[in-house]
Amino acid sequence: EMYGDRTNSLGLNMNIHSQADDFIAAVQQYRDKQWQGGPIVDGKTIETDHHVSITSPQETSKQVGSIYWGDKKLSEQALKSANAAYKSWRKVPTDERAECLEKFADLMEANRNELIALCSVEAGKGLQDGIDEVREAVDFCRYYANQARELMGGPIQLPGPTGEDNELFVEGRGTFICISPWNFPLAIFVGQVAAALVTGNSVIAKPAEQTGLIAYRAVQLALEAGIPGNVLHFMPGSGAEVGSYLTSQEDIGGVCFTGSTYTAQAINRALAARTGPIVPLVAETGGQNAMMVDSTALPEQVVTDIVASAFQSAGQRCSALRVLFVQDDVADRVLDLLRGAMEELQVGDPLLHETDVGPVIDGIAKTNLEQHISDIQQAGRLIARAPLPDYAMGGTFVAPTAIEIDSISQLVKENFGPILHVIRFKTSEIDEVIESINNTGFGLTFGIHSRNETFAHDVASRIDVGNVYINRNQIGAIVGVQPFGGRGMSGTGPKAGGPHYLTRFITEKTRSDNI
Ligand code: NAP
Repeated sequence: EMYGDRTNSLGLNMNIHSQADDFIAAVQQYRDKQWQGGPIVDGKTIETDHHVSITSPQETSKQVGSIYWGDKKLSEQALKSANAAYKSWRKVPTDERAECLEKFADLMEANRNELIALCSVEAGKGLQDGIDEVREAVDFCRYYANQARELMGGPIQLPGPTGEDNELFVEGRGTFICISPWNFPLAIFVGQVAAALVTGNSVIAKPAEQTGLIAYRAVQLALEAGIPGNVLHFMPGSGAEVGSYLTSQEDIGGVCFTGSTYTAQAINRALAARTGPIVPLVAETGGQNAMMVDSTALPEQVVTDIVASAFQSAGQRCSALRVLFVQDDVADRVLDLLRGAMEELQVGDPLLHETDVGPVIDGIAKTNLEQHISDIQQAGRLIARAPLPDYAMGGTFVAPTAIEIDSISQLVKENFGPILHVIRFKTSEIDEVIESINNTGFGLTFGIHSRNETFAHDVASRIDVGNVYINRNQIGAIVGVQPFGGRGMSGTGPKAGGPHYLTRFITEKTRSDNI
């Protein structure tokens, strides 16, 4: 887990009970805290006349806190301030900007228990998910700080005729609009903001409606770390209002978006319809992620990896496994073991150590997922549904479900939750399977379980995705280790947490000097 001369942050090993018990007690202290938040413009939290209360997915009658929403007028004010501030922020030495990110990372580590508690009560994330979330946010800051030092450390000397000095400079582009989803409410929110800031851009960050409080807390820490208040503004509010307003303004420097393919396409259209500068869109979107299991695979390992890939974080990871292709010879054995493993899954309160699967994000998500299960079940055969706890009706829980279907083409959209589709295939059908996966148009993650290296590598090279995982689960990409992001309908690239990511946030200038 090394990159450059630094190591990724260590996280916490929940299997070491002495460590785990203290940590869990510390996080649970925050269970009933009421958090408050609102737009932050020029370093000040603004109380608007639109005040929204936030409830918890695991207990929808429980209020977690409340947040003020921004609007067009406030967004306009923030953009004006951000554009003015960018002129000096881009001239700040890269090292100073990088140090701000490192301080921000340290502050997130120092406030880790509160951030993990917030991830749990506001977003329904489990304890391990919360640990991973803080860890990824911290890693993004430190990684991009180092990448920026390398990319922007000084002009590159270029060749030229005698007497002429040719140099290449890089600098920020202006104000980046950073728009993030609820499923990684801290890591993705912070990753976007960190990349844009360290490269010398100002930022207006809009979090998902469901998870504004986590993002608000992160922005408070970023400002405490020394990011100037006129450089980083925070604009919670509705995507349809604030998001579409900001992405249709002429005087923005770029957009960094993570969320659904549908919204990325809407933003792409909004950018195209503007007059003025043509700006980059970095979009990371959805997937229809598959795993292929051949007859040489080890069924026990396969099942552990299937369960983690499909059901961890209640299947609400963009990388999560949606469609399992299992070779006929081993299918019955694998599905038997899967049924057994699903019966053992503990669905429930994400703040408890024993919970494997928490709730889905909200009532709308739950309704859509249950609708899909009932539709697809009519066209397929139910393999298993995990049991739900007694209190499930009080929250937005969806029982992890596995259903056998005939073809991936029966799935018309990404189903963002704990639903696994299973398709059997014969050895003679490999080419059709690969083609059917590529034909979905998505290209995010792919898993393969096989002990035949030639076969595994051949399939890996023919599947059109951004991240391939062989003989392991296909989730939990680590910054600098598995740079993350897809292609086609899954995103524009470059990969987050990878060596090329920052290049989309900069602009270049050459100077040919004959003085
Ligand atoms: P979403 O509905 O697309 O929302 C994402 C963000 O866009 C939210 O902040 C949303 O605001 C905002 N938004 C909505 N309409 C907008 C518009 N017209 N203009 C500008 N912004 C707008 O996605 P989600 O449901 O939050 O997140 C789940 C999706 O994210 C899944 O598809 C998942 O696969 C994808 N994802 C991809 C990656 C990756 O790295 N590839 C990582 C994580 C998640 P509101 O909250 O107000 O709607």
